[in-house]
Amino acid sequence: MAEPAVAQLTVDLDALADNFGSLGAHVTGAELAPVLKSDAYGLGAGPVVRRLWAEGARRFFVARLAEGEALRALLTPARPATIYVLDGMTDEAGPRLDAAGLTPVLCSLPQIAGAAAHAAVCGRSLPVAINIDTGMGRQGLVLEEIRAVVQSMDRLRGLNVGLVMSHLGSAKEPKNPRNSRQLAAFLEGRSLFPEARASLAASAGIYLGPDYHFDLVRPGISLFGGGPLERPDDRLRAVATLTAPILEIRNLRPGDILGYGEGVRIDAPTRVAVVSAGYADGILRAAKRGGYAWFAGARRRMLIVNMDISVIEIGDAEAAPGQSVELLGPNAHLDDLALAADTVAHEVLVRLSRRAECVYLGQV
Ligand SMILES: *Cc1c(COP(=O)(O)O)cnc(C)c1O
Repeated sequence: MAEPAVAQLTVDLDALADNFGSLGAHVTGAELAPVLKSDAYGLGAGPVVRRLWAEGARRFFVARLAEGEALRALLTPARPATIYVLDGMTDEAGPRLDAAGLTPVLCSLPQIAGAAAHAAVCGRSLPVAINIDTGMGRQGLVLEEIRAVVQSMDRLRGLNVGLVMSHLGSAKEPKNPRNSRQLAAFLEGRSLFPEARASLAASAGIYLGPDYHFDLVRPGISLFGGGPLERPDDRLRAVATLTAPILEIRNLRPGDILGYGEGVRIDAPTRVAVVSAGYADGILRAAKRGGYAWFAGARRRMLIVNMDISVIEIGDAEAAPGQSVELLGPNAHLDDLALAADTVAHEVLVRLSRRAECVYLGQV
């Protein structure tokens, strides 16, 4: 097969399906409800949601109302999924939520009031979820608010609370006592809604064990190959692969300065490949510190990342212009790139740009 002449982002839907299966094997009894916010972590909500539907997923989460509308348009009418919108009942959202059949995740007293008012106007019961803040401090009703709501049931009139959820702040640190504190708070909060289903864990929470699984788990990053503990994990396969062709091979000499400004000072003869992808394609600029690419069967140190061009050190590997370098994928791991760039795998994925040619493998 000829190597692609431009940077290429390959999204492997078979790997996605394998990750869905391997996460599912961890949560016997609980349902996997994939989180597909931000265009399925930048990998394309359409192909991703169609494949996950084919694998058996029936409930999905997105962040924004518009993402929910887009997901509904991708699924309807043959695939009647439940779609939860994490932003909840934002102002004026009611008619749009109704039109697209989306379930808001209510996360404040004003949102509950807004949803109840909307239910009264519509004259029918609205399906909703409720987000409880169990100690992350970011979003959701705190326990006192939940108790107050439940005590004056009027506030929930017209609302059919089908799901109670919360989110863990330190799940990637299994020994952190914050996890069990959040679990205890969640158990109390959910006990106030005995009829509703319950959901606490995202990717990392799944691996905290069955106490954290409840009825529904909400994996995002691990579906796309990110290890739950922010390091490469053998149980998961890379879904996104970014490759780019070599433009040129160069021999740098001691005393040379590579790149802008102070650049990289070369103090020994250094053979490099100039690669046709840079931060405009999604390779984070900060990844030059400790980042690597994969070429000719080995890791190759990343020297600079510019907008269109990256330079990697290739030693004495056999190399020629046109050959392909893996900048992200099964060998240049997402979690390693995130670590090098001092960020999380989630950010690496959502920054991948559409300048790279996008190809789907295993499409349904
Ligand atoms: C993003 C998000 C998730 C998914 O998190 P991952 O770490 O990607 O698995 C789950 N729940 C909520 C509320 C989120 O915002």
